Amino acid sequence: MAKFYKGVWTNPSTDFANGPDSVEIMVNRLARAGFNLIIPLVKSGNGYLNYPGKIEKVSPQFQKWDPLSLIIQKAKDVGIKVHPWMCVFKENENSTIIQKNKTLRMLNREGKPTPWACPVSEEVQEYELSLYKEVMDNYDVDGVHMDYIRYDSEDVCFCKRCRSKFGKETGVDPLKIGKSSHYLNRKHLFWAQWIEWRAKWITKFVEKLSKLTKSKNKELSAAVFMEYPECIIYEGQDWVNWAERKLIDYAFPMTYTNSTLMVRRRTRNHFAQVKGSCSVWEGLGKESSRSSLTTKGLIEQAKICREEGAEGVVLFSYSALTDEDLSALSKLG
Ligand SMILES: [Zn+2]
Repeated sequence: MAKFYKGVWTNPSTDFANGPDSVEIMVNRLARAGFNLIIPLVKSGNGYLNYPGKIEKVSPQFQKWDPLSLIIQKAKDVGIKVHPWMCVFKENENSTIIQKNKTLRMLNREGKPTPWACPVSEEVQEYELSLYKEVMDNYDVDGVHMDYIRYDSEDVCFCKRCRSKFGKETGVDPLKIGKSSHYLNRKHLFWAQWIEWRAKWITKFVEKLSKLTKSKNKELSAAVFMEYPECIIYEGQDWVNWAERKLIDYAFPMTYTNSTLMVRRRTRNHFAQVKGSCSVWEGLGKESSRSSLTTKGLIEQAKICREEGAEGVVLFSYSALTDEDLSALSKLG
C-alpha cells in the first residue's frame, strides 16, 4: 500500500503557552505517531507575528523566544517537514498595513469595513508577499502554507477600488448584481464576469507566491474550501485552477464534518477535480468550528480518505489531539 502522509496545524499562541519546552514535547509526540508535516501559525492577521519579523509587530508572547526556529530545529532532527502558516488576506484594525492606510480594508455591501484586506490592491498583495519572503529568507523551511487565501464571503469586496475597477471594465457597478445566494441574481448579464473577476485577484497572489517559492526551491501548500467549485462563487477561491497550473504542490481541503459519508463524497469529488495535478491531503477536524470527532471517528474518516485516493490527512488541530488519537494514528501510514 502507498505511503499515507500525516500533517497537523498548530497555533503557537496556545500550544506553546508553557514556553519552549512544549515545542520539543509536541515534535516528539508527532514523530512517534509518524507525522510528516507541521504547519505552525506565524501570521493570523491580528497585527502580530509569531516570529521576530521586521515587517509587522511581534507577538508579546514571543518577544523572548522564537517558536518557529525551535520547531524547525526539532522537526529537522526527526525528519518532519515544516510549512509556516499565514492567514493571507486577514488583517484587522491592529495590522500595521491597515493602520497606515484604511482604504486597503475589504468593505461589505453596506460599505462597512471587515477585518480583511482587499486583494485587488497591489499594495496589499506586495505586503503579504513580503511576509512570506521574510520567512523564507530567514528560516530553513521546507515550504510555506496559505490560509484565508480567499474573500470572506459573497458580501465583499465593495471598496471604491473594486467598484471602480470592475465598473471601468464592464460599465456595471458590482453592487447592482446582488448576492449570488439569491439565485435570480445569477441571471444578471454580468454575474459570471463578476464571479470570475473576483477570483482572478486571489489567483494572482497565488501566482506571485508560487513564483517566489519555486525560485527558492520551497514547497507551497494551501488550506482550501471543501465545497468546490461553489467556493469560486462565494469565496473567490479557484484552487483547482492553482493545482492544474502547478502553482501549488499540495491542496488541503478543510473537510471538517462529523459525517463520515460527507468525507467519502467530498474526498471523491476533490480527486475527480484535481486529477493528480497536485498532492491532496484531506483536512480533518478533530475539533473545528463545525466538527468534533472521537478517536474512532477520526481514524474512520482518515481510512476513508485513503480509500478514496487521498495521499494523506492534515489534522485540525494539534491542541485537540489526545494520546489515544496519536497512538491510533501511528498505526496508519
Ligand atoms: Zn476591494
